[in-house]
Amino acid sequence: MKLRNLLMLLPTLLSLSVFSLADENQVIDAHGHEHEHEEKIAGPNGGRVVTSVKPHYELLVLEDRRLKITFLSDEGAVVAPNAATVVGTGGDRSKPTRFVFTEKDGSLISDAALPEGNEIPLILQVKVTPDAKSVAERITMNLATCEKCKHPEYACVCAHDDHDHDHKKG
Ligand SMILES: [Zn+2]
Repeated sequence: MKLRNLLMLLPTLLSLSVFSLADENQVIDAHGHEHEHEEKIAGPNGGRVVTSVKPHYELLVLEDRRLKITFLSDEGAVVAPNAATVVGTGGDRSKPTRFVFTEKDGSLISDAALPEGNEIPLILQVKVTPDAKSVAERITMNLATCEKCKHPEYACVCAHDDHDHDHKKG
């Protein structure tokens, strides 16, 4: 009798564990910004470190406004992108700019430049391997300079939350 009870429970237990796995994935997708509560560190080039995927990566806007993505080890050292792929969409929703990245000198560089403006919404979709799930990161690329840490706002390492940031003066 006991064994039978256990066997009847088994499918329930199995489906429970499957559901909890699915839930975890959903949490990561829906609340990618939760990661921002982690300690903020500057990337090796002064860009923003994104921790929603492993390896983490640094997002940097180059002088010509193209985007540069550099993958980082746990220790923050530069690692090769290997088979990682990134695509991006940014700017006006009615006329978005699409970004395709190609490897150059160990980093991924976008073909397109950020559209005009100082606060450009950007969505990056990163696959760390060809089989990996695509992980989206939504970032407002605020290019103004933070007066405290001298980083661009999108890469600000000050201890406050992004939501408190209200630099809409200029
Ligand atoms: Zn700052």
